[in-house]
Amino acid sequence: MSQRYFNKEIETMPREQLKRLQSEKLVRQVRHVYDHVPYYRALMDESGVSPDDVKGVDDLYKLPFISKSDLRETYPYGMLAVPLADCVRIQSTSGTTGKRVIAYYTQHDIDLWEECCARAIVAAGGTKDDVVQVCYGYGLFTGGPGLNGGSHKVGSLTLPMSSGNTERQIQFMMDLKATILCCTPSYAAYIGESLKERGYKPEDNCLKAGIFGAEPWTEEMRRDIQKSLGIKAYDIYGLTETSGPGVAFECCEQHGMHINEDHFIAEIIDPDTGEVLPEGEKGELVFTSIDKEAFPLLRYRTRDICVLTSEKCACGRTHIRMSKPMGRSDDMLIIRGVNVFPSQIETVLLKEGYAPNYRIEVDRFNNSDTLDVFVELAPEQFSDTVSGITAMERKLSESIKTMLGIQPKVHLVAPKSIERSEGKAVRVIDRRKLHD
Ligand code: ADP
Ligand code: ZN
Repeated sequence: MSQRYFNKEIETMPREQLKRLQSEKLVRQVRHVYDHVPYYRALMDESGVSPDDVKGVDDLYKLPFISKSDLRETYPYGMLAVPLADCVRIQSTSGTTGKRVIAYYTQHDIDLWEECCARAIVAAGGTKDDVVQVCYGYGLFTGGPGLNGGSHKVGSLTLPMSSGNTERQIQFMMDLKATILCCTPSYAAYIGESLKERGYKPEDNCLKAGIFGAEPWTEEMRRDIQKSLGIKAYDIYGLTETSGPGVAFECCEQHGMHINEDHFIAEIIDPDTGEVLPEGEKGELVFTSIDKEAFPLLRYRTRDICVLTSEKCACGRTHIRMSKPMGRSDDMLIIRGVNVFPSQIETVLLKEGYAPNYRIEVDRFNNSDTLDVFVELAPEQFSDTVSGITAMERKLSESIKTMLGIQPKVHLVAPKSIERSEGKAVRVIDRRKLHD
């Protein structure tokens, strides 16, 4: 078990002390935002809360929420809390669910973000002797710049590969003996598949760990990637609105991601009523940035659905852990009245021995929803007879029905016929939206 931390004092701080630290920072931050962000001041005034009403973390619930629509409304600089001249960087969301929003950073904000990523790299076993291959996209997307900065802070040799050009990724991984791989889990799976096709065995690479995030992935997917690359695969979570990746990261226990609570206060709310839920209940994750200067969002609704636990972790870190988000509340499909998360389908596919190459299509015919799941066959499965394949489709359809409660139509398709992802995978096509 690794006992290593990037910032031991903070990462292992007793929880009462951590709460005091959060409270002090929160009081200061609420005042800062009230004084410098007219949009949020108006929201506070409307809800009848003044900065003096917030004396600590226990008063957080009094503050109004911010959601993505507020950020779209105030685009580009309506949330700016310092003079623009004090900012040194802009990043932007991937735009997975609509118009992109932008975030702005002072040097202080960049430093704290990069420290969060450094904590994640060290938790995955990274040191100055490691070679960190970053194949998240660089540019406006936060993945590349975040892990790049974290890797520098750790003192590792950083390979700023960005995403794509898998041939070159593999060449550099082998020639430069990369030890830690950072990318989306879907791209990690693709790299694993590509290595195998080139005749490499998992033990042929020097990788020991991977830091994968930016999209939902299942435990089954983790096992698959760990096996194909011969590594330990760690989850990392974040969003542009709070900085980028590194808001939370997995430790050696691989059992929930520690949230960097010295910078972010996490709450779980009921997405319908906005009511704060007790620890252990599943709901929407809400973050308050208590340290950021330029873009300090208070009570930002992430739309990600998960569970928090402050139970002691064997790694020694005291910061609260979040479960893997099941997906965003707006990723959830309602099909024939049943709530379906794409991750549930992924779990079944991988359990049944299929590779994580699939596409989910939802449509509506004669007022009834249809669910089609396209799953790629491995080359050795493809040689089976037509009746054999039909039987496999039927079996998979039954397993998915057992998980979801509704029957999908399963289509087993030829190897390589489903597009691979180099960044965030797009796995769901909901055609009902086009008809509405
Ligand atoms: P966009 O909202 O356009 O995708 P971001 O690039 O900022 O913008 O992505 C942040 C979102 O990515 C999070 O809100 C979450 O839904 C998803 N995400 C990030 N990391 C993870 C992770 N480890 N597991 C599941 N989802 C994740
Ligand atoms: Zn831990």
